[in-house]
Formats: sequence, C-alpha cells, structure tokens
Amino acid sequence: MSKTTSAPSGQPAEDCASNWFSLARDLTLKMVEQPSITGTPGEACFAPWLMQELSQWTCFQRHSHHLWLMPTLNDTCERPILFALVRGQGPETVILTGHYDVVGTENFGHLSSLAFHPEALKEALLSGALPAKVEQDLQQGFLPGRGMLDMKSGLAAGLTVLHEWDPSTQGNLLFIAVPDEEETSLGMRSAVQMLPEVLKQHDLTLVAAINLDATTDQETGEDGQAIFLGSVGKLLPFVWIQGCPTHSGAPIDGINAAFLSSELVRLLEWNPAFGEGGEDPAPPITVLYQSEIRSRYDVTTPAQAWTVFNVLTHHRRPADVLNSLKEACIQSFADALQTLHRRQFQFVPDHQATVLTFQELVERASQCDPEGTRDALSQNPKLDARAASRECCTSLAALARISGPAYVVGFAPPFYPSTLLGDSEQEIHVRSCMQEVVGGLQKDGLSLKVRSFYPGISDMSFIAPRLGPQDLETWAQNAAVPERWTVPDVPLNCPVVNIGPWGRDYHQKWERVHEGHAFGWLPEVLQRACLALLSSGES
Ligand SMILES: [Zn+2]
Repeated sequence: MSKTTSAPSGQPAEDCASNWFSLARDLTLKMVEQPSITGTPGEACFAPWLMQELSQWTCFQRHSHHLWLMPTLNDTCERPILFALVRGQGPETVILTGHYDVVGTENFGHLSSLAFHPEALKEALLSGALPAKVEQDLQQGFLPGRGMLDMKSGLAAGLTVLHEWDPSTQGNLLFIAVPDEEETSLGMRSAVQMLPEVLKQHDLTLVAAINLDATTDQETGEDGQAIFLGSVGKLLPFVWIQGCPTHSGAPIDGINAAFLSSELVRLLEWNPAFGEGGEDPAPPITVLYQSEIRSRYDVTTPAQAWTVFNVLTHHRRPADVLNSLKEACIQSFADALQTLHRRQFQFVPDHQATVLTFQELVERASQCDPEGTRDALSQNPKLDARAASRECCTSLAALARISGPAYVVGFAPPFYPSTLLGDSEQEIHVRSCMQEVVGGLQKDGLSLKVRSFYPGISDMSFIAPRLGPQDLETWAQNAAVPERWTVPDVPLNCPVVNIGPWGRDYHQKWERVHEGHAFGWLPEVLQRACLALLSSGES
C-alpha cells in the first residue's frame, strides 16, 4: 500500500501503523537469523525453534495446547508444520499462513555469511559498490537479507496480529507455518490434509485464509502493495517426439526429431495463440527443456527428442492445455514439412504425424505388452521426475511400436491449480470484505490495489484449488509419474487471498523488504481484514 500522494516512505507516518512496527520488525529479524534454507537441517530446526519462541507469549502460556507441531506427510527431511491458535469468540476462524523455508545464499558471494544478518549486511552493502537503485533503496527504508521479503516479514506480520488479538473479539486466528514452499510445497499439501481433523478438534469453522507471501514491484510499490484475490496456476506439459532417423550423410531420407522439436518450440514460445489472453492475461508459455534423446555418438540423425513447457494458468484446465499442445504439434509438424520442402525440393512433404496423449500411448502399449507397460510405468525412483517422465515415454513408445513421425503430449510434475474467488456466498463475502478494507484505507488517505492473480506460484494453490471434477483425473491419467505429485482434494471451503510484504529482487542477492510497509502497514491491513472477515456474522 502506498500513500496516494507520494511514494512509500521508510517509516510509517501514521500512529496506528507504528504501533505494530517494533514487534513485527523484531520477530522478522529473529526469524531471518534462523537459516531455514529448503532441504537443509536449518529448515528442519525452524518450526521447533519458533514454537519455543511463541511459547513465551502469555496467550500460549495460558493455553499451551493452542500451539503445536505436526509432522509433514511423507517428508524425508522431517520438517514439522507449526500451528498456533489464538481464540476470540465463537467458532469462525481465519487462517494466516506462510512458508518458513528460504532459497539458498550462494548468490550473495563473499557476503553469504551476512545473508541472515540484515543490519550487518546493509552496512556491508552500503560500504561497497552497488547499483544506484539498490543503494537508494537501502538508504530509504528497505532492509536486505535472505528471507526478509520472502517471506519471514510476512510470517511476522501475521504473528503480530495474533499477538494483539483481543480474546473478546469475534472469531479466531489460526496461524500455520509450513516448510518446502520453494521446492515442492510439501508443507502446504500436507497441512490441508491435516486441517479437517484440526478444525474438528478445536471446533473451528473456516471463513477464509490469508496467505502472507511476498510481492515484488520495481516501481513505487503500487502494484506490489496489493490484495490478491487469486493465484496463477502452473502446469508442466511435455512433448515427446519420434522422428524418422536416417544416416546423417543422407538426411533427406528421414525427418530429424531435433528439428521437429525446434519447430514446436519456435511455434509455442511466448505465442499468445497458445496462451491465455483476455482482460487479465496469464504470463506466456515458455520452454524449460529441449533436447534430443540419445545416449551415445553415432552418425544417425536423432530418432527422438524431448521438450517440456512452463504453462501458467488463470482459468485453463489440464484438458485445455493438453488439447492446445496437441494442436501445436499438428501445426508445427505442418510448418516443419513446409520448411524442409522449401529448402530441399526433392523432399516430398506428404508425411502424416501421429499425435497422442500420454493416456493414449499407455493404452496402445498395454494392448501390445501389458506386463512391459506395467514395468515401464514404474520408473526408476532415483531419477528426477522430469527425466523419469521422459524415460517412461521412450519405453512405452517402444512397446507400442510407435513409428515416426509421432508426438506424445503429457504432464510432468508439478501441478499447481490456479485459485480465484468465485461466486459462492462465502467467496462473495470475502471479496466484499477486501473492498471494505480498501475503502477504509482510502478514507485514511492510503491506496491499496486489489488484483486478480498473485503472479508467483504459491501455496495458495492448495488451499482453494480451482478444480473441476475431471481435472485431477485428466492430469493423473496423462502424467508419466503421477505418484510423484498429489494435489490433495480436500473440500475445505476456505476462500484464500494473498496479502503480504512488498519489496524487490526476491531470491536475488539484493532481496530487500520495505520496512514501512512490512512492519507498519501490513499488520494493520491484516488486522482490518481479519476483523472484517470475522465480524460480519454479527451484523
Ligand atoms: Zn514465498
């Protein structure tokens, strides 16, 4: 949020915001000092450490059973999830949640030992050469450090609201801190499965969840200081390609699979025709993997190639993306033939390509060899999920006796469903509460944007996934390694929004948070949002 009349200042000017400042700032700095890099012992230690800190608060000394840890499901790293409940009146509850893991500090270079010590880091940075914008920010109210923005200051803002929650207030706050958001969101995917039992035990009814994750905005903060009513989703479709191999001395006798993959990538990269437009367009499709598949050198042209695409979604379903990729295969194959014919007239462009979904490939393979198909589908668990998907396709295509040219379209993990407030009574209520908060802030001379989709991948996807009855099935039936990824289908009926800290360059060496926003106004906005969400039952 920014003042309507000027860019954000380093310190909150208004009294109501400054009440929160020192508590939120102290909590953030203490949490940042814990090096909770994803997948390290520092991450595994974080939740027990935070529990110990919070157990000193009066509310948890009075009600020690309102503060507890639960093990993340199927977690080889043993990173617990922290739950903290602060009760007001009645069963209605708002969840405040965020992730406690952070990305690594390699990109801090010689300053990596200071990455978790923001004050010392700021001093060291300012004593060296810095890009002008970073220097200006550090002199004008931004504090650097790994996790300062993403997202310990978000967790701290939520905890600050818990600390100040008056027991006579209508409604309860349930704080949940999860691990592993930066890699596979195992923490949140576990937490949503635990929630029904937690709600039952404590007699809680969910009204909404507020995700506290960070946003970045290189300008004045107007776009970053926002309430997000939804989150972008993500699919990772692959296309496995079979060409017609030939001796490389006579390439015209075949069709090079590597060339087919290039034509496909050329057609798809950033192409709005295969993306999601409309009023609020999703970021464009981009290629993440592109390679020929071969284990050794020889003079035969590549028989097979492999591509994986990053597809961010607002409204599109897995089936839509699958169909769109099939169309792209057909179109890019026609383009490829024409290109080859233009370059070498003796090449006759009369080939037909087989285009299959992964599910269709499995059906064909099991008709030929049911046992071999079962084996191919149980891939080497040591392989990365993307590599295992590729190997699985190659094995199944051999069993199904697929001859080129052919394309197989399917999904690799991960799958993050998009979220967006819909038209149920509860969702309409949440949307109108957010408008009420924004309206109230405007009266105080402050502006806060309401935006549709949080642009980064986040844990919001698993709190209120936008899934139709067929979506999970379509994804799983077309995923080569579906056992590597589960989207828990838990009917929580809990609309989710994101309200988090604002800063710049998260995951980078210059990661920094705007102190006035994160420690002053963010807790204020969160408290107003919680009060609005929880008080309406009374009116
Ligand atoms: Zn984050």
